[in-house]
Amino acid sequence: MSTAPLAGKRALVTGGSRGIGAEIVRRLAADGAAVAFTYAASAAHAEKVVAEVAASGGEAVAIRADSADPTQVADAVEQTVAELGGLDILVNNSAVAHIAPIDDFPAEEFDRLVAINIGGVYWAVRSAIRYLSEGARIINIGSINADRIPGPGLSVYGMTKGAVSSFTRGLARDLGPRGITVNNVQPGPIDTDANPDDGAFAESLKQVVAQGRYGHTSDVASLVSFLAGPESGYITGAHLNVDGGFTV
Ligand code: NDP
Repeated sequence: MSTAPLAGKRALVTGGSRGIGAEIVRRLAADGAAVAFTYAASAAHAEKVVAEVAASGGEAVAIRADSADPTQVADAVEQTVAELGGLDILVNNSAVAHIAPIDDFPAEEFDRLVAINIGGVYWAVRSAIRYLSEGARIINIGSINADRIPGPGLSVYGMTKGAVSSFTRGLARDLGPRGITVNNVQPGPIDTDANPDDGAFAESLKQVVAQGRYGHTSDVASLVSFLAGPESGYITGAHLNVDGGFTV
């Protein structure tokens, strides 16, 4: 009998080919879950994550599915259930950012951010909910930008993460009676392709982080694993920052 905390659990992580999502896939698999994950474009990265998990003795399945497309999201949930035999943990991680002043914010970028960052979360939950039962977990990856915007150009991205925050609160009320927890993990600056430690904004961001540095993807994945596990059952509707003190 395995003593891994997530043994026997089946998880779906959106946007698991790179960055925070890939580390969440690796961590949930290392903790004993069978993990499916979606990606939109990075097939080679997705195959690498599958291979890494397999090499460590775990199980991971990569599914190409654009979070902006409700049909593809629904199909990804169905494929997860078919391949893993059910669904216990949904991690809504995929998101995109576009930084621009509001006067010039391109209409197509507004539509893309809303479709992926808000629509993708909504449709994943709508598609998954019929498979989730007592003890299941929904974990949304929001952003500290829901609560604090450190400079100009982030208004639309911040708006989408604010939506994730309030959706989490409502879902926690909807699903509490069914024993399903819903939480919102809000990263601060984490070193990924989307926000590299040596990127254009890195030095200014480090100045407003109490610890003065970027975090690692593993800092987020470890909290997600705890929230997915059996010891977090009385935590729901929470907004948990992993931000090195960005918001203090
Ligand atoms: P990355 O850009 O490094 O990785 C994003 C992942 O999402 C990739 O696997 C990508 O796959 C996938 N993805 C993007 N668009 C889609 C789509 N339309 N459909 C399906 N998958 C998609 O981002 P991060 O790892 O940095 O961010 C992960 C989460 O953490 C996001 O929700 C982000 O908002 C949040 N966050 C990150 C912070 C940071 O500092 N890094 C700070 C605060 C929040 P593919 O390559 O195939 O498109």
